[in-house]
Amino acid sequence: MINPFSKLGISDDVVNAVKELGFENPTPIQEQSIPVLLEGSNDFVGLAQTGTGKTAAFGLPLLELIDFKSNKPQALILCPTRELCLQIANDIKNFSKNTPNAHVVAVYGGANIMQQLREIRNGVQIVVATPGRMLDIIGRKAIDFSNVKYVVLDEADEMLNMGFQEDINDILSTTPDDKKTWLFSATMPAEVRRIAKNYMENPVELTMGTKNTGNVNIDHEYYVVRARDKYAALKRIVDFNPEIFAVVFCKTKMDTQEVADHLIKDGYNADSLHGDLSQQQRDKVMQRFRERHMQLLIATDVAARGIDVNNVTHVINYALPDEIESYTHRSGRTGRAGKTGVSICIVNSKEIGKIRQIERIIGKQFTKAELPTGFDVCEKQLFALVHKVHNVEVNTDQIDQYIPRIMDEFAELSKEEVIKRFASLEFNRFLEYYKNAPDLNASAEERGDRGDRGPRNFGNSDYTRLFINVGSVDDFTRGDLLGFVCNNGKISGKAVGKIDLKGVFSFIEVENDSVDSLFNNFKDVQYNGREVRLEKTSEEARSEKRSFGGGSGRRDRDRGGYGGGDRRGGSGRREGGNFNGGGGFRDFSGRSREDRGGYGTNRGDRRDSRGDRGGSKRRS
Ligand code: AMP
Repeated sequence: MINPFSKLGISDDVVNAVKELGFENPTPIQEQSIPVLLEGSNDFVGLAQTGTGKTAAFGLPLLELIDFKSNKPQALILCPTRELCLQIANDIKNFSKNTPNAHVVAVYGGANIMQQLREIRNGVQIVVATPGRMLDIIGRKAIDFSNVKYVVLDEADEMLNMGFQEDINDILSTTPDDKKTWLFSATMPAEVRRIAKNYMENPVELTMGTKNTGNVNIDHEYYVVRARDKYAALKRIVDFNPEIFAVVFCKTKMDTQEVADHLIKDGYNADSLHGDLSQQQRDKVMQRFRERHMQLLIATDVAARGIDVNNVTHVINYALPDEIESYTHRSGRTGRAGKTGVSICIVNSKEIGKIRQIERIIGKQFTKAELPTGFDVCEKQLFALVHKVHNVEVNTDQIDQYIPRIMDEFAELSKEEVIKRFASLEFNRFLEYYKNAPDLNASAEERGDRGDRGPRNFGNSDYTRLFINVGSVDDFTRGDLLGFVCNNGKISGKAVGKIDLKGVFSFIEVENDSVDSLFNNFKDVQYNGREVRLEKTSEEARSEKRSFGGGSGRRDRDRGGYGGGDRRGGSGRREGGNFNGGGGFRDFSGRSREDRGGYGTNRGDRRDSRGDRGGSKRRS
């Protein structure tokens, strides 16, 4: 039987190489573009998502068109990020492993330029580059592009988003006019159209799937929660998916770091990826993620660009992207290479409109999902454990010597009782954590303004209205104030009702049952050297009007911002609620918690290198 890639016109050396990579059949984009590109006589625009086999779609034809007897650069591939650059270069090296005298160089910033210059000097036919470093090398007159016949602009929309337009112009001006340009983009905003118009002549256009449509293998879901419950919702989603392997997107570097820090503190196998990390640190994080030593990668849009990790089960939009178009790139991190994936948005009620906009852009409907209850999570985790125990590989050589003693220990117990005890070992911890877990789904009422604790009508008789002498002039948001009062007053966030943030003071409603405890704990609280007073409002005040102050005055950013889920989750969240850390059975790497402690050390270093962020304040 003729190999399907041979049928498309690919030569044996390359066909054998891709066979070794496990490519049995061309993906749809490969099937459509390879014959067109092999002609070598057209400009080309391919509208395609990442993860669809794009690299081979242009890489394989390039290998057929290049004259490998010559050692001069004949193809230049520009892409937005170092990660993508390395991936493309590696892919093409793999495709050309049987092709005599094929040389591919990856040119990207943050790495030793001398080594790259040396490789160029030694002779290369294919240059894969990020624009900045490419310009640097051109500026040094270290490369001659006069023989370039093909330029590939990969993830063109991303390159423009990242401000590379000028650089691309400058680079292309050093290549011959009669070269062919092949442009690939996941989306086709006006700027990309303009490039196509400026640089190409009657390009052949191929659209894989509908325009701007996300990958068909991806399901899109959203959960509506109160703004303060976002973190708890994230944890619940993770806990409900014991085998999750996900990229979680935040908006800013700081949020990314904070969410990752909190997850790590809560025992999850997570780490952050953002622009404040050195290249070496980013590489390490990516390596751990790729090798499945980490379950949750918390990333900014920019840092996650071009990440090609297969088998990502979920993309979680912890914050929606500012640019709706970025959603396509985010969700494209899952559902790759024919696999299915889920892209989740955790939103508050005010963001539902944005979900509708995204639906219009991707041409697909989101499913509104409900966060599972604590009981659902326990059940799911229990059966994940049961399956794991059932399927575990038994190391007979090692365990056999202990079996007589173990049997002795269990001699009194029936099989059923032994099973019950093993299962309970983990299940009890889940139950402990989730026994009082609240419903995190925003109720219909909350879908009004409660999510953000906006000013609402006070006057619920179950609550006491309190005055506090801090407000928006102190740079507090409602979330900050909630954290501040709960932390200093040692009450649950759930006990707090409406918050009305004023200028120099604010009003806050607290459940009647928690008021005494709040006043007892809220002593000597200072903020910016000022005593903070908490009082019942005149209509509430009983005969003895009390005011309380004291404490450290320290704004507990962490607990204030993220305590929502945990505070409410009852006691011992780390011990009782941490399903990843405890028995370690959720840890993909199979490492113990102690092992993972090692990452903590790295992270400490990293934070040092970025300076002390302790004084900064989280904005909710
Ligand atoms: P890309 O869109 O080029 O980043 O490719 C996404 C993933 O699909 C990569 O891991 C490729 O190795 C894989 N891939 C590409 N083409 C094929 C194919 N024809 N068969 C199987 N896997 C493929």
